[in-house]
Amino acid sequence: MSGDLFSRAQQVIPGGVNSPVRSFRSVGGTPYFVSRAEGPHIWDSEGKRYIDYVMSYGPAIAGHCPPQIIDAIQQASGNGTSYGAPTFAEIEIAEEISSRVDGVDMVRLVSSGTEATMTAVRLARGVTRRDKIIKFSGHYHGHADALLAAGGSGVANQGISGSLGVPANAVADTIVTPWNQIPELDESIAALILEPLPANMGVVPPKENFLQELRTACDRYGVLLIFDEVITGFRMAMGGASQWYGVKPDLWCFGKVIGGGLPMGAYGGALEVMSQVAPLGGIYQAGTLSGNPIATAAGLAQLRLLNPDSYESLERTARRLADGLLNVFEEIGIDATIPRVGPLLSIFFTDEQPTDFDEAQEAAENGVYPEFFHKMLERGVALAPGPYEALFPSLAHTEEIIDQTIGIAHDVATKMDKR
Ligand SMILES: *Cc1c(COP(=O)(O)O)cnc(C)c1O
Repeated sequence: MSGDLFSRAQQVIPGGVNSPVRSFRSVGGTPYFVSRAEGPHIWDSEGKRYIDYVMSYGPAIAGHCPPQIIDAIQQASGNGTSYGAPTFAEIEIAEEISSRVDGVDMVRLVSSGTEATMTAVRLARGVTRRDKIIKFSGHYHGHADALLAAGGSGVANQGISGSLGVPANAVADTIVTPWNQIPELDESIAALILEPLPANMGVVPPKENFLQELRTACDRYGVLLIFDEVITGFRMAMGGASQWYGVKPDLWCFGKVIGGGLPMGAYGGALEVMSQVAPLGGIYQAGTLSGNPIATAAGLAQLRLLNPDSYESLERTARRLADGLLNVFEEIGIDATIPRVGPLLSIFFTDEQPTDFDEAQEAAENGVYPEFFHKMLERGVALAPGPYEALFPSLAHTEEIIDQTIGIAHDVATKMDKR
């Protein structure tokens, strides 16, 4: 039983989980333990099948367990698991990334999105010889100290850490500012980091031309613009959010999709910037498992599965899901908005689309989501166990699967107390 596994897990793992959101803290109850996954489905330890919209929070863009990726992993693992010396596949994946993303001349592989953003910030500071960075409240950039300044409350506040254990001086140079408002920049700022399409406070799109205006503001003061494309990269389009919005940052951070479900991240940019990374330049970054041959093989196999048709298909699927769910909520009379940009969407149980973190928090914390989540789960649809997470329909989510989901949502919505 999941309950037994969870109590056992809690004896030896903090909260029973290796990443906090998995613990069900924000929706209540006991997490399901996954025993296997295939296509759009996961099965729990009791053999119950769910339509999955968590999809590992993004990496499983081709569906779970795609044969091409599994084959690539099996082949690569037969040749050893890690060498500490360069391999041909690292060239191939770097070429694949830089050919897809216009502006990425060079790319360095790391092992997580956190490492990618942490290093991008170090690189920006090293290149500009400036210390301060700006982030937007509600944007998530992994768990490096300098980026764990959460801010919140929409007030631009400087150096308020979002976690115990992060010393005040680790975030003293991190300025947190409200999303969708152009921050005040000056020549003491090294970098502005953001999710070009925020998807970790629900999906809260940039206002029209906002990213272009940020680009212009950064250029005026020599501030490096960092797009954290850990979610949007290779998901919104072949070239990610920078292609989608037509705005080029100075540095890109990748993760999730590029590892094909194995631990991998990357950061990249133009030659002038990337050539300042060690051993070429004075900005240090390294990793025993960086460019790991199995992760590289999985990532390469996944990228090769993704072509322009895939993105049309992902968007069609997301649109069908968003439209279908919205119809259901309208018909039943439940206040909801479903922000969607291309293949990314989320659900807010409120009648107005949030435009910043304050509004997103207000919408997310009104108590409706946990009820919807649990009733959907009971009926075999696994949404993320938290109101701030996006839905990640994959290439394996067929029209039939989407329509099943919408049918279940209809039944669930009629039984909701909170409306
Ligand atoms: C998931 C995520 C990260 C962190 O990546 P990890 O691989 O979990 O370290 C960073 N930025 C964004 C936008 C993310 O969604």
